[in-house]
Amino acid sequence: MSPTRPGEPVVGVLALQGDVTEHELVLAGLGATTRRVRRPADLDAVDAIVLPGGESTTLGMLLDSSGLREPLHERLSAGMPALGTCAGMILLARELLDGRPDQVPLGAIDIVVRRNAFGRQRESFEADLAVRGIEGPPMHGVFIRAPVVEAVGPGVEVLAEVSYPGGGTRAVVCRQRRVTVCSFHPELSGDARLHGLLLADAARVSAGSD
Ligand code: GLN
Repeated sequence: MSPTRPGEPVVGVLALQGDVTEHELVLAGLGATTRRVRRPADLDAVDAIVLPGGESTTLGMLLDSSGLREPLHERLSAGMPALGTCAGMILLARELLDGRPDQVPLGAIDIVVRRNAFGRQRESFEADLAVRGIEGPPMHGVFIRAPVVEAVGPGVEVLAEVSYPGGGTRAVVCRQRRVTVCSFHPELSGDARLHGLLLADAARVSAGSD
């Protein structure tokens, strides 16, 4: 946990499993105040949340056993800004393809996500991506058993796509209102620009200007 400065948004990092520390380091690099979210009471102290990469089936079970699923769902429905990377994207989706039958996503962004969508050859790969609305050089995407977005609802902006092994392209960065998701791991390449979007969303909510 880093010290809280009055009036500054606190960014939670869901800390049940996955690459929590990597996200904390990126957020600390932006000067953000962070707090690990492990139980429902932790949510009361945060203004925004990061759902990290990891294993979405495990994360889903831990959401249930920690009691976090319902209160997290409520905060997201009430408009709390969120960033989900890889497994975090899977957790935030409306619908899953190739999920486990008992895997229920949180439905915070109107997208249909296919888990482990890249064939064996490309289970892990890296690609440079032009992300709409993100300034500067392309983002370096590290994809590890990554999901893709198969369908998006009317309120969702597709910010980046990659070419798909089966042909065509698929969305890998999407945003709806204050929820941003990506298939890859900006926290592993140390790219802070999507975290910057989250902080900007949180600052607007805290200032009452959004
Ligand atoms: N394939 C994993 C899942 O389904 C996600 C992998 C990741 O987060 N790197 O949860």
